[in-house]
Amino acid sequence: MGTPIYKRILLKISGESLARDKEGVIDPDAIAFLSKEIKSAKDLGVQLATVVGGGNIIRGQISSLGAIDRVSADYMGMLATIINSLALQDSLENFGLSAQVMSAIHIDTLTQPYMKREALRHLKRGSVIILAGGTGNSYFTTDTTAALRATEIGADVVMKGTKVDGVYDDDPMKNSSAQMFDTLSYMEVLNRKLKVMDLTAISLCMENKLPIIVFNLLKEGNLKRILLGEKIGTKVSE
Ligand code: UDP
Repeated sequence: MGTPIYKRILLKISGESLARDKEGVIDPDAIAFLSKEIKSAKDLGVQLATVVGGGNIIRGQISSLGAIDRVSADYMGMLATIINSLALQDSLENFGLSAQVMSAIHIDTLTQPYMKREALRHLKRGSVIILAGGTGNSYFTTDTTAALRATEIGADVVMKGTKVDGVYDDDPMKNSSAQMFDTLSYMEVLNRKLKVMDLTAISLCMENKLPIIVFNLLKEGNLKRILLGEKIGTKVSE
């Protein structure tokens, strides 16, 4: 089966990857696909925490339209991540995995509160932990949540799943000659303003020497292949 190169990972899943191109905010096939990918990683024996975004439902930027205050919009976005996390939890359980949603925003009837100690206990017992509710603070993103939680739980790497193959020097969806980077330093990302994660997230990773791998999560088997040592996507490190 192979030995994974990382023991504990934090997988960041964007809200959009739960919706794919279908109508509606959540596509059951997309969630089932993600669950299968996560199961294949778990089958290798890695400890897996995941942070799910909320962009398929709502983003704080909706406040720029005027009707809703930015802070309220951000809390709506954080609630959206809880909706997505509950969906992923059920799907993972359908694939035979144990999964716990731990949220920064407390909704006692639905989720456990996020506590580092408890999170580590779940990971060591083999459960997937789904870290919901973002950081619990407005003006942040779920990329920053991923960097923060990965640092707190001592993850070996943040794996940022996207719909493109890695980090490019231009938008590969618009420019067909855009070049992908195999590796980058944190400073290169910051200086060239490359779209990897937001600045707060990159700074946190840099300060804590936490590598980031940006990869195409929608290609079947990619997550497992990276865990087995294949060079896929773009790795950002020192
Ligand atoms: N959000 C927030 N604080 C956090 C995390 C998220 O206010 O710590 C809000 C923010 O409005 C954001 C929304 O939740 O736009 C959804 O998260 P994000 O945009 O990161 O989701 P993704 O793009 O990954 O789907």
